[in-house]
Amino acid sequence: MQRLAIHIKGIVQGVGFRPFVYNLAQRYQLTGWVLNNSQGVQIEAEGPFQVVSCFVEQLRISAPPLAVVDEVLVTPCSLLGDKEFIIRYSCEQGQKSAWVSPDVATCPACLKEMNDPRDRRYRYAFTNCTNCGPRYSIIKDVPYDRAATTMSAFPMCVSCQAEYNDPTNRRFHAQPNACSACGPAYSFLTKAGEQIPCDVFNETRRMIAAGQIVAIKGIGGYHLACDARQEQAVSALRNRKIREDKPFAVMCSSVKVIRQLCEVSEEEELLLTSSARPIVLLAKKAGYDLAESIAPGTSFLGVMLPYSPAHWLLLADDDVWVMTSGNVSDEPIVYQDEEALDSLGNIADYFLMHNREIFQQCDDSVVRMVSNQRQILRRSRGFSPKPLTISQEIPPILAVGGEAKNTFCLTRGSFVFMSSHMGDLENLTTYQAYLAAISHYKRLFAIEPTLIAYDLHPEYLATKYALDLAVPQVGVQHHHAHIASVLAEHRIDEQVIGVAFDGTGYGADGTLWGGEFLVADYKGFTRLGHCKYLPLPGGAKAIKEPWRMAAWVLYNLYGKEFAAFDIELSRNLPSGWQLMMEAACKGINAPITSSAGRLFDIAAGILGVCHAIHYEGQGAIELEWAGQKQCGQVLPYTISQGHPYILDFMPTFAAMTEALRRGIGSDFLAACFHVTIADATVAMIRNIRRDTGIRKVALSGGVWQNKIVLEKVFGMLQQDGFLVYTNQLVPPNDGGLALGQAVVAGACIRER
Ligand code: ZN
Ligand code: ZN
Ligand code: FE
Repeated sequence: MQRLAIHIKGIVQGVGFRPFVYNLAQRYQLTGWVLNNSQGVQIEAEGPFQVVSCFVEQLRISAPPLAVVDEVLVTPCSLLGDKEFIIRYSCEQGQKSAWVSPDVATCPACLKEMNDPRDRRYRYAFTNCTNCGPRYSIIKDVPYDRAATTMSAFPMCVSCQAEYNDPTNRRFHAQPNACSACGPAYSFLTKAGEQIPCDVFNETRRMIAAGQIVAIKGIGGYHLACDARQEQAVSALRNRKIREDKPFAVMCSSVKVIRQLCEVSEEEELLLTSSARPIVLLAKKAGYDLAESIAPGTSFLGVMLPYSPAHWLLLADDDVWVMTSGNVSDEPIVYQDEEALDSLGNIADYFLMHNREIFQQCDDSVVRMVSNQRQILRRSRGFSPKPLTISQEIPPILAVGGEAKNTFCLTRGSFVFMSSHMGDLENLTTYQAYLAAISHYKRLFAIEPTLIAYDLHPEYLATKYALDLAVPQVGVQHHHAHIASVLAEHRIDEQVIGVAFDGTGYGADGTLWGGEFLVADYKGFTRLGHCKYLPLPGGAKAIKEPWRMAAWVLYNLYGKEFAAFDIELSRNLPSGWQLMMEAACKGINAPITSSAGRLFDIAAGILGVCHAIHYEGQGAIELEWAGQKQCGQVLPYTISQGHPYILDFMPTFAAMTEALRRGIGSDFLAACFHVTIADATVAMIRNIRRDTGIRKVALSGGVWQNKIVLEKVFGMLQQDGFLVYTNQLVPPNDGGLALGQAVVAGACIRER
């Protein structure tokens, strides 16, 4: 006989781990106990020597689907001769280090019950079990027990309690367990907040079918929903939400419906149906018949499948609904009821609300497939706060992230806990949510950072926040952080050629970088090349109005005569443009940037594809749409010899302008532009390989969300024998910065 104390670390709470241990112990006829504590799951098991060893082995290999067993610590202890094996109540002790599971989409077993008229959970909108349901969004504290969640407001009825107590039941210790007799419920309200007695789901369906907009409370916040086939409803939503043309995501009732609208590969279907249930960006196909204003100017549509029981009750048959985050303009997603009525009351006609509190808001995640690899554009619901594992242990670090699409992260040992998507910090409510989320994460994961990593940009709010903390700090250059995020994901601990292409980031020399060729590892980087510096006429305004940089380029190439050219850009110049160009040439109110992202704006401006930018990356997205309709050819560009290599696309812009004047179509030229960017990028990388012998290439930064350029560069580099790495676990945009900041700061500390 032997008795072992077994300590299991990982995602082992809220995923049915104790029932699993209990059942396993019963099967092996062992005695002892299991409990959740703040460090994970603790077990003591007693029985015949061989049997106990088998039991430990099974704990590792047959854990429940949502569990992630990270560590199993086993210590022998003296025999106690218990009579049975029991589940003990959780106890609070020692340092908290438990993990928290992300929210999980409704599982097939629960769905079956909901669709069965004889089942007591028939059409119950909060059905869940140990394998599915809300987690992160309802957890207030660890250890994860009902009392520490927002379900504590709903005492279980006798039937639910019996399931909860029955070790053989699928709902044994399922913390959000509920039924219509005891659990939360939905209600349907007018926008004035008056409850309307009705069959809430049918009434919502009826209103949506009638072209109305309904605010629907879900798992991580509110959605604004309307019928995706009614142009009038969709454009009303756009107007009221003050969102000019940034694409909306839709929800479809099945993959079959999605296939009628979009191309769906095997990998994309796996993403759609995964338990994280993200929004997947898919290519629209012939037969696409949704309202024009859902995703104007792009060939992609963001689509997701139902992920909460309520979604399944709402969407049926051929339904396609717009399901966009419930917020005004760029504010964070609304998740509290009063706030919803207050701020969404001007957008929604009706409200479908429920009375379970959302403790932590969480947006839908956005993913896509590029070059047969997963690319995450927004990492939130279903993913966070599941930790990433890096190759080395680093001290507890808080990396505060960047400004736009902010996420932060906390580290412990070799684990990185990335926050969910925060948004743009320049928005006050977002910044407040950011501060609240940092404290929540610190408490939840029991991490008190001893080091702060921040971006060098002095105007980023996250940077200002970091510099105010009384904890040692490490500043990390923006593009170094982008490249380091790829290294961290792929656990590469050597120098690579890093190509960081993005909008802009603060350079080590105080200028705005964004088209960078670095040789980098965690510890540091050398800037071996970059795109040629160009001015931003009018400063930040040039980012919103792409014609400014485009006009500067043509002014520089042709002088003021270009205003007489028979092209879109020249026809649309506003008065006073000439003064602005002259000022820019003298460097007045025209900071310079090596940004690769801005090159796409310039091309979009010259080709007349996009005049005003209403959301980040719009110029590039509309240019990509134009560019993928045809095959392009490489236009001229130059690379200066000697370090750093300067990549100059002025000849490209000249060639595009000449061609445009000869009447060549802008779609073809958009395609040429993409091919040229890809060709030039690869030429730069070859130069650097020649100089350094490095064959590993890391690509990061928001520009790599451009599918045409990424696929071209990826393909060419692979053919050339390079090993190419991209972001697959965190976004290539600034949503992935925090990971890079953390590993760079960790390496700096090791060096010291
Ligand atoms: Zn379930
Ligand atoms: Zn109940
Ligand atoms: Fe960036």
